[in-house]
Amino acid sequence: MPATIVSRRGFLAGAGALAALAFGGAGAQSRTMTKRTRLVMLATGGGPRPRAGRGNTAHAVVVDDVLYVVDCGSGVARQLVLAGIALTTLRHVFVTHHHSDHNLDYGNLIMQAWASGLRTRVDTWGPPPLTKMTRLYFEMNAYDIDTRIADEGRAPLVPLVHVHELTQAGPVMQDERVKVSATLVDHPPVVPAFAFRFDGPDRSIVFSGDTNMSDNLVRLAKGADLLVHEALWVPAVDRLVARVPNASTLKKHIIDGHTSVEDAGRVAAAAGVKTLVLSHLVPADDPAVTDQMWMDAARAHFKGEIIVARDGMDL
Ligand SMILES: [Zn+2]
Repeated sequence: MPATIVSRRGFLAGAGALAALAFGGAGAQSRTMTKRTRLVMLATGGGPRPRAGRGNTAHAVVVDDVLYVVDCGSGVARQLVLAGIALTTLRHVFVTHHHSDHNLDYGNLIMQAWASGLRTRVDTWGPPPLTKMTRLYFEMNAYDIDTRIADEGRAPLVPLVHVHELTQAGPVMQDERVKVSATLVDHPPVVPAFAFRFDGPDRSIVFSGDTNMSDNLVRLAKGADLLVHEALWVPAVDRLVARVPNASTLKKHIIDGHTSVEDAGRVAAAAGVKTLVLSHLVPADDPAVTDQMWMDAARAHFKGEIIVARDGMDL
């Protein structure tokens, strides 16, 4: 049987790598083939507007074909399909905080996984009111869920989902593959807002969530292999705000609640991580801010590897 398992895993990794290449992940194939703990940057833009380019924040951690999703921006289920990751492998969902670019498709992810054949337990983790959101989501979609159970013979969905509300820093969960821990980050006025750390069998990955420059995050990320950090290009904020005419205090929120790309480099250096992955880019759709500019701004403060994330990148 071990030969069968190896063969299947090799096939899946190969399929994933091909999908990643087609989906914009060029250059990452060798990482995918050799790492047991896989990180897929499903969507890498910050902010709640839909865009033609970078999507609303979502990440996949895949260990031994078991799927852990971190944040559920709009389109997360389709991004997973595009990345070659089976929705039926969904096991855990983590939400860093309740801004819509991180949670809008929380319920849709679970619903679409179920529509794709999911019939096993899913645990979800995030700040209050995650329990209420889950209950209301299922209530809103009861007609479809009940119809498919009766008409298509599906297993009931609601009993599969187990919600865990997080209110403080510390250990979150541990299974035979990963240990997940959390810290509180500074993302006013959203409280609590979390960063998560995954310690997998062969490497560690930290997700900053949305935050201003955070000492808690530096502590959580100490010595990690990868730090996925949000990044803000401050000189472009005025142009961004001008495109959103119904949000008069948006500039203040962006500056107070987020981390400049320069400070993201400083956090990576202070934490001593191997690789900084710049993501949740704000602005995500300003052609005047190039990947090279993001890279160079962080490089001034961090000497390790820097990756400017793109949707579908397989790391
Ligand atoms: Zn946010």
